[in-house]
Amino acid sequence: MIIYGKEIREKIQQQLQEEAKNIKLTLVVVHIGDDQPSEAYIRGIRKFAHETGVEVDVYSLSAGTKQEQAERIIRELNNDPDVNGIMLQKPLPEHLDGNLLTNLIDYHKDVEGIHNYNLGKLISRQEGVKPATPKAVVRMLKHNDIPIEGRKVTIVGRSTILGNPLSVMMTSENGTVTLCHTRTLDLINETRNADILVAALGKMNFITPDMVKEGGVIIDAGINFDANGKMFGDVHEEARAKASIASAVPGGVGVITVAELFDNLFILNRQMKK
Ligand code: NAP
Repeated sequence: MIIYGKEIREKIQQQLQEEAKNIKLTLVVVHIGDDQPSEAYIRGIRKFAHETGVEVDVYSLSAGTKQEQAERIIRELNNDPDVNGIMLQKPLPEHLDGNLLTNLIDYHKDVEGIHNYNLGKLISRQEGVKPATPKAVVRMLKHNDIPIEGRKVTIVGRSTILGNPLSVMMTSENGTVTLCHTRTLDLINETRNADILVAALGKMNFITPDMVKEGGVIIDAGINFDANGKMFGDVHEEARAKASIASAVPGGVGVITVAELFDNLFILNRQMKK
């Protein structure tokens, strides 16, 4: 069975639309450079915001923006009381220190949930904002009544925004997690063992049928484009067919991620009121 994200996205949006009737929230997206997939993602953010009743401002800065300029803009946004959330679109041009910029964002405005303060809260299992894509993965499993507790969960990919925080979240859900990366010695063995396999490595059709368990669950977080601009996940169609449940690409995790970003904006706002 193939599972999709549309219904989940709509459910999140309906809840936020209700809340948005009573408050005015503004998200600022800082986009430095001209990465094409980023532009598509930002269009998705604008659309979701418009439909939900949230203000979005996009600061489009040239690829040549200097570190000091980027820092100054983030400080200004931190100090602006009319700005409720700040998102720094990645990838950033290579000369910029992304880690420094991310942690310069006021953690009360960190809609991506990737400031060290918020990641610390995630590890210590405190309430708060969580990175959007891992949140989407967990929500997709829960929405489809797929138990995580006691399951062997293998995640391929350990990035700070996706695989790594997802491993923490899956552990908090009482899954037994194996986190794989490029130095994993016997990747096929790790993936084939998984009751729940999450592909989050960013390599088109990388997960082949020999790498998956018959009847397992596969969540594909990968977003890749071929030369014609067609979107593919990290999991090969034939591998997907071996699973009992597999998420769609396109139309799966990616559809929920934007909604999770806005969910974080509202969580931050509620926290500020406490
Ligand atoms: P990333 O920062 O490039 O990280 C990729 C991770 O995959 C790294 O940990 C890397 O290992 C691992 N990896 C790469 N090739 C591998 C291989 N051959 N074998 C095992 N591990 C391998 O990527 P990311 O930002 O996490 O994104 C991953 C994918 O998710 C991309 O397709 C991206 O577009 C997609 N994504 C989707 C959403 C969404 O909304 N659905 C959001 C964010 C990202 P090392 O650490 O050893 O290098």
